[in-house]
Amino acid sequence: MSDIFSNTILCGKCNLKMKPVSIERNGFVLRALQCEKCGEKIIHPDDEAEYQRFQQLKNKQFHVKMRIVGNSYAVSIPKEIVEFIKQQERIMDDFVRIAFNDARKLSLMFGEEEN
Ligand SMILES: [Zn+2]
Repeated sequence: MSDIFSNTILCGKCNLKMKPVSIERNGFVLRALQCEKCGEKIIHPDDEAEYQRFQQLKNKQFHVKMRIVGNSYAVSIPKEIVEFIKQQERIMDDFVRIAFNDARKLSLMFGEEEN
């Protein structure tokens, strides 16, 4: 099956061929087509669906318990989050970076550092 974006898509208003662009939203790179004349954009339906899945996960709250493991505390990261990240990153190792950037907040970074 060929990708929908491999076809020529015309702007509904200008009747001109739309050019491929990428749009960044919350760390996501979405494939899109844009009309050079009016700026109208069409986001790839697969990327849009993936982004919607992210939005649903993003607004979900998880309550997990801290456990003591040796001299450290461990928390479990819900499987659905890790699986989603794995799908996005394609390759993911078992290492994450932790930053204590707020008095009551820890952040975990998956994948490579962003420049
Ligand atoms: Zn247009």
